[in-house]
Amino acid sequence: MRKFVTCLKCPKCGGEYAVKPDFTTCPACHQDIEHLSVLDLVYDYSALKEVLISNNILFNSRNCYSKGIWRFKELLADVPPEFQFTLGEGHTPIIRASLLGKDYGIEELYLKNETGNPTGSYKDRLAPVIVAKAKEAGAEAISLVSSGNMAAAVAAYAALAEIKTYVILPPDTPGEKIAQIRLYGGHTLKVKGTGSDRISLNEAAVREPGWFNGNSPFTPYGSEGVKTMAYEEWEYFGSALPDWIVLPVGFADNLVGHWKGFRDLQNLGLIDKQPKLAGVQPEGSPSFVDGFLAGKEEAIPGKQETIAGGISQRVTLNAYLGLKAVRETGGTALTVTDAELLEAERELALKAGIFAEPTGVAGLAGARKMRQQGIIKAGERVLVVVTGSGFKDNDSARKLAVQEGQGQVLDADLESLRKAIKRK
Ligand SMILES: [Zn+2]
Repeated sequence: MRKFVTCLKCPKCGGEYAVKPDFTTCPACHQDIEHLSVLDLVYDYSALKEVLISNNILFNSRNCYSKGIWRFKELLADVPPEFQFTLGEGHTPIIRASLLGKDYGIEELYLKNETGNPTGSYKDRLAPVIVAKAKEAGAEAISLVSSGNMAAAVAAYAALAEIKTYVILPPDTPGEKIAQIRLYGGHTLKVKGTGSDRISLNEAAVREPGWFNGNSPFTPYGSEGVKTMAYEEWEYFGSALPDWIVLPVGFADNLVGHWKGFRDLQNLGLIDKQPKLAGVQPEGSPSFVDGFLAGKEEAIPGKQETIAGGISQRVTLNAYLGLKAVRETGGTALTVTDAELLEAERELALKAGIFAEPTGVAGLAGARKMRQQGIIKAGERVLVVVTGSGFKDNDSARKLAVQEGQGQVLDADLESLRKAIKRK
């Protein structure tokens, strides 16, 4: 198999290291879990150009949907063919949201609907690359801290790879969130203490022989998988890429993946410049946005009080590349309230037919606010990434549905039906 990654490079100190599947952070810059530097992959673009462009193997000419993200294998961390496990992830629709666009004053508003991925979220782009690297490292188990989408995705792909998954969770994690992980064969472990305590525990656990760190902020391989979203967006929009791409920010892997993906396309000579990237966090969990607004290179630890479980954390770990992505593309970072998230969830379902969880609609709530504040200018083309299905977090949907007055039970006669309909 021809290889295209030449080395691993630290984005902070520029240190270069030989490629090893389980070596992912810069030893010189790693101080503690809140000050670490995940290595970046350096590709040989002239070799890639020769293979992909000179031989006319552009992505969209392949049309092999069963390969999932591995359709882009040359740009995915040199994973050997036997470890390219897939559930047919990716290839998600991009749709124009005309009704929402009209309401928001965004003439060209598009949605990248990631809810249709095999386990219900965009994490299905990250998990195959992480699992492949675990397999390459000869790992028997992958361990990570996550109560939701990432854990479910890793457990599903690890099951295909016959690797065990251990998920470290807070004690109050609701049973329904755990069920999906367990059905994929993942082992869930409720652990007391703070989020940082659980992450430190995971770091200690993965030092055991045969264990692999699947924690998204500690590996470059998750955001490598997200690059495929940028490639698909390029396939759709061609040279008329959106002016803005607006996304939710938890650990910023989505943001970093987009930036890395467009950087690949730029280095291959396929695009001139990157879209502006905007990262959105809940007002109750704003560490990345606070870091951006304060001009820092890292997130500023803060509160963690939001209904959006997937992007709720005291601090965005490894925010360095995410903040760089926002600044380099001329983008921005902003917060939205929980009420704005719920409103976006309702509007997205009602006016675009997409059922998403509160985390998944942060980009939409953010785009609306950006247009109101004049950050998005009239006539600018906007793509919002909807990251996770509403079935992932039914609580908010149930509450919204009750507000709509759907709780009553009718007698089985036409008169009751008429009365109920008239009342609305
Ligand atoms: Zn370094």
